[in-house]
Formats: sequence, C-alpha cells, structure tokens
Amino acid sequence: MQGTQNLKNDVQAICEQLGIDVHWYSVETCAVNWAHWKERKINVREIYNCGDYAAAFHEIGHVECDAGEKQQGVLLVLQECRAWQWAIDRRKDAFDSGAWQRIGNALDCYLRDCGIDEQKAPEQWKEIMQLVGSHSIYGVPSPGSLGRKKKKLG
Ligand SMILES: [Zn+2]
Repeated sequence: MQGTQNLKNDVQAICEQLGIDVHWYSVETCAVNWAHWKERKINVREIYNCGDYAAAFHEIGHVECDAGEKQQGVLLVLQECRAWQWAIDRRKDAFDSGAWQRIGNALDCYLRDCGIDEQKAPEQWKEIMQLVGSHSIYGVPSPGSLGRKKKKLG
C-alpha cells in the first residue's frame, strides 16, 4: 500500500509527543498488539495497511484512556470502546474502509468474548458501530454491490 511509511511516521510522532515507547513487530512473528498503560509502552505490528494504522492508534488510546488494568465483561467492552473512540477522534479522516472494518470486527469480538447480546451492548459501542456502518462496506452487502458482483461473474 502506498504511503504506509507516512502512517508509521505519524504513529511515531504522536508517541514521541505523548511520551510513549513504541515497539514494532513484523507480520511474520506471532506477537500481538498490546498497550501497557502504566509504563506507557505499546507493542504494535508494522503498518502494512490502514487497518494496522488504526490498530496502532487504538493502542495509543489505551495508554491515554485506561486508568488501570484490563477490565472484564461490559467494563472491558467500554474500555475497548474508549480506546477506539480516542483513535477515531484524532484520525478518522485518514481511515479507509478497511480500517473501519477492522474496528467493526474488533467491536464484534469484544461482545462475543464477553457473551453480551448486541441489543444489550453499551451505548458507546452502538455509536461506534454506527460510524463503522456509515464509513465502510461492513455488514450486509447493498443491492448495488451484489449487482456488480453478478455482472463480473457472468
Ligand atoms: Zn484494545
């Protein structure tokens, strides 16, 4: 993808500004993204696409918004939402459809992992999901996109 170095530079610059240590790992390793709130450290995957960029901002959001260790249940969902909201508030204009999709998938996972029904999701979760819906091709394909697909196949 074009411009991933710029995206990485942006993450580096923000981390420097906020006094956060950023450690990059390559896609070949089995590492995961994490943030350490107290030590102001993040471990994030090298940026290959805009989704990685959004995910890196999400981890910075954890350092900035988490006032304590990892929560559980609905509090965990809220903690994750806050970190995404932090990222969205700052860089939503730079997010492409793939980035929004990454956010939507992550939000889905938190609810599933916590065994919470979508109807019972916290308001903040619903608000972010609405943004995901309006910014990405996430969810049910529109009749228009189905039509295009059919044409290609035929
Ligand atoms: Zn998170």
